[in-house]
Amino acid sequence: MEIEVGEVAELVQALIRNRCVNDGTPGSGQEARSVDLIAGYLEGAGLDLERFEARPGRESLVTRIEGSDPEAPSLMLLGHTDVVPVNEDRWSRDPFGGELVGDELWGRGAIDMFNLTASMAVATRRLAVAGFRPRGTLLYVAVADEEASGLYGAKHLAERETDSVRADYLITESGGFPIDAGDGAVTLPAIVAEKGTMASRLRVTGTPGHGSMPYGTDNALVKAAEVVRRLDAYRPATRVSDHWRDFVRGFGYPPELTEPLVDEDTLADTCAALPPAIAKLAYSCCHTTLTPTVLRGGTKRNVIPDAVEIELDVRTLPGDDVESVGAVIDAALGDLADEVEFVPGVTIAASESPTETPLWDSLGRVGQHFYEGSALLPMLMPGATDARHFRPLGTTCYGFGIYSRKVPLETLATMAHGDDERVDLESLRMITDMWDVLVHDFLG
Ligand SMILES: [Zn+2]
Repeated sequence: MEIEVGEVAELVQALIRNRCVNDGTPGSGQEARSVDLIAGYLEGAGLDLERFEARPGRESLVTRIEGSDPEAPSLMLLGHTDVVPVNEDRWSRDPFGGELVGDELWGRGAIDMFNLTASMAVATRRLAVAGFRPRGTLLYVAVADEEASGLYGAKHLAERETDSVRADYLITESGGFPIDAGDGAVTLPAIVAEKGTMASRLRVTGTPGHGSMPYGTDNALVKAAEVVRRLDAYRPATRVSDHWRDFVRGFGYPPELTEPLVDEDTLADTCAALPPAIAKLAYSCCHTTLTPTVLRGGTKRNVIPDAVEIELDVRTLPGDDVESVGAVIDAALGDLADEVEFVPGVTIAASESPTETPLWDSLGRVGQHFYEGSALLPMLMPGATDARHFRPLGTTCYGFGIYSRKVPLETLATMAHGDDERVDLESLRMITDMWDVLVHDFLG
């Protein structure tokens, strides 16, 4: 089925159909296919295209419209071309079909984040073709490997190709979902901070023995089950940041609703009374979280295991480090702590950007263009984006986009990395316009 839906929708469809699924292994993703696609689309617009290959098949693309004033701040529009895997059985349609159904475009990546990656490319091409010369340089960057560590994408560029991707300001996913703030007012969240990650493992040891005689044995698997249970039951200290306080208060709800959510003594209990999606967000934004996700152990059915490994998805708040996370684990495990070894892995600290900046003010004006009277809401993101690789270079990074009201926020929140991911065409039109309005406002 091919219906004329405009160049941005066609580009989103093609990106979906390229199936650049990143399962975390080095050979997956193969984003060079989508770099070919985007490069092909941008060709003929007078842009210089730079391609960077971090390993075979893992390519990223950089292009720019040079500014006329070297003193003016530069802006990068940053998109990724990879997607997370799908569970096909749970989808109502082909996750890689890129089907247009009614006014919705279906497929993995539709909102995470081909809606942005494609519309950024379309806006950049249009500006180039129109001969637009900004004061500050505009960069468009499409990277591989965002859905894993960024090792073959943003991290590679930021660390090894720094001169090609240096920018004063950067916008990437996500944000810009209209939230009703009562009395017809709308707030638009913009991501200003994100939690850190610490890929960790716990090693649980025991004593081997014969599976036929379990009585009184020291079974590492049984111990690991109790470790997992304690980790799940443990409630680490609540930490309310200024960003969280501003975010909650920005909703404009009455104080009896907002105050318990900005009070470290009451937040965790208040979560139980909230809709699940809001509770998840509130809890994650104000706690260091330790999620057991993988358990490996045992060798043979009739052998009592003496070693089990638990993988932990640790998400950190600003100020957390290996020592403080170790202390949380010890507190969770109590008297089992001595029998468990904490093995911290790759650690990327939580990061944030200030909101007292010209780009923040510009986003506020741009938001008003689409939702009159709207206000920006600074938001902390529990997950990670590629912004974390650029903040250490001194780049001020926000997550922003713009969406229509056609897809409710609750639905949007479940679609990224979930089932039946799709985007409506009105949102695609709005977002493509948004980059144009933003570039003129901020770089013009
Ligand atoms: Zn994403």
